[in-house]
Amino acid sequence: MKKIALHWQILIGMFVGILIGFVAVQINGGDFIADWIKPFGAIFINLLKLIAVPLIIVSLLNGIGDLQDISKLSKMGTRTILIYICTTIIAVTVGLITVNTFGPGYKIKEETRNNLLENYASDASGKIEMAMSQKDQGPLQPLVDIVPDNIFRAMTENGSMLQVIFFIIFFGIALILIDPKDAAPVKAFVKGVNEVILKLIDIIMLAAPYGVLALMASLVVEAPSLDLFQALLWYGFCVILGLAIMIFVFYPLVAKAYTGFSYRSFFNGISPAQLLAFSTSSSAATLPVTMERVTEHMGVDEEVSSFVLPIGATINMDGTSLYQAVAAVFIAQALNIDLTFTDQIMIVVTATLASIGSAAVPGAGMVMLVIVLGSVGIPEAGLALIFAVDRPLDMARTVVNVTGDASVSMIVAKSLNKLGIPHPKGLKDHYVPPSE
Ligand code: ASP
Repeated sequence: MKKIALHWQILIGMFVGILIGFVAVQINGGDFIADWIKPFGAIFINLLKLIAVPLIIVSLLNGIGDLQDISKLSKMGTRTILIYICTTIIAVTVGLITVNTFGPGYKIKEETRNNLLENYASDASGKIEMAMSQKDQGPLQPLVDIVPDNIFRAMTENGSMLQVIFFIIFFGIALILIDPKDAAPVKAFVKGVNEVILKLIDIIMLAAPYGVLALMASLVVEAPSLDLFQALLWYGFCVILGLAIMIFVFYPLVAKAYTGFSYRSFFNGISPAQLLAFSTSSSAATLPVTMERVTEHMGVDEEVSSFVLPIGATINMDGTSLYQAVAAVFIAQALNIDLTFTDQIMIVVTATLASIGSAAVPGAGMVMLVIVLGSVGIPEAGLALIFAVDRPLDMARTVVNVTGDASVSMIVAKSLNKLGIPHPKGLKDHYVPPSE
């Protein structure tokens, strides 16, 4: 029997999961889903997260170890960061254009607004408190936070990926600088471990359709009532429209223009990672799969993907920044607060920075939104307005975050002559790595 492509398997898993969720809601089977189905979704996410840190360590070290000199590393680093900042600014701008065009905040009824503010006030205050503890720090604190004081502690925290990346780049630079004879065994060991981890990802992905099924079924059971979705329809529409423009227009077109990748091969390559991002709401949990897809199915040399993607998963969040821009303006509109042009520029700046600071986990974008709101004087309590629909929008923005990272890795690879060419035997989705 012909094997069904992975993205179809995952899509079927999602569909069946949603169906099971709906049936469970109808027959009051919510507890059954929570007790017997949801744990498998949690196990699947744990498995993905479990290999995220080891994967970053060995693949980054493997990639840096292959570089001949440090100037190459700094060239790649500068390009990566600059392109990441550009795509984020573009995303925020797209968000601002959609929200200003449709004015979703003006469409919300006063009664609904007051209900939402009342009902979600306590949920919102939890997020606000979390954000405040970050806001009280000095301007250079993020820089201090990148440098770990104990690498083993940093490695035990999935939230400290930037610290791990810092240490590995530091270690890798030393590896390039020492006598190649001494470096050889370290590199050989890292190469071997890298292969083992890639195999682990293959094995975990066998369970992806089932993991996704479990995640979707439990999400449907836990979703708030449809009435709330209706009240926030226009707001959700603006976020989704902006995200869709990024996913279906911006990234594939840029990839086509710059790397020659067709629309179809772009989506054939990246779609399993996109579906997983959607189901898990976490770019960090999706990272192993993004790495595998980009390297093995989109022709990006491992030297580039192992550097660009882990950094992207932590600092490049185009979807999150777009959502923050739409949400901030929506809340201002709903609360009748006028935003000047300067305020909107301020939103571009703070949403870009806030998305860099957001962790790659579910709901992180909303915590950092508090900082965007504060920068233009919108009351943080307004967060309560958008709380109810945050989860589905989080799922969608994570897809953009992951697609953005993958697209930038293709662009950086192409600019360094590290993007493969289509397989000579015409194997679909397979690329031959570039030869030096
Ligand atoms: N869930 C997003 C991610 O992991 C972050 C966010 O916007 O909340 O990329």
